[in-house]
Amino acid sequence: MASTKPESCPERLRCEEFKRQAVENPRFKILEEALQKLGCPLNFKNIDCEPCDSTASAKFLSESGKVVICQNNVRTLADVENNLIHEAVHAHDWYSFKTNIAYKRKV
Ligand SMILES: [Zn+2]
Repeated sequence: MASTKPESCPERLRCEEFKRQAVENPRFKILEEALQKLGCPLNFKNIDCEPCDSTASAKFLSESGKVVICQNNVRTLADVENNLIHEAVHAHDWYSFKTNIAYKRKV
């Protein structure tokens, strides 16, 4: 199991540092703004670095609205940026879809 490593492990610290930089990426900022407009913010607080069992580099958890960056499967800032942007697109699709359903029900 990959989840027994202590919080201070170098993998996590590296991931946290990449995350801090990745949320400043202009492409991510555009998605962050779009998600904010949907009322479903995705920012530093609900993006987590965690070890993953799978070979995934990141995932969007629709139940919690969180994005997990798989700290054991990302190696570079570009990895984290690309994965974060990819998952933010998933989040936007997910919330847009839900928003549309909610809207249709109201009508
Ligand atoms: Zn995907």
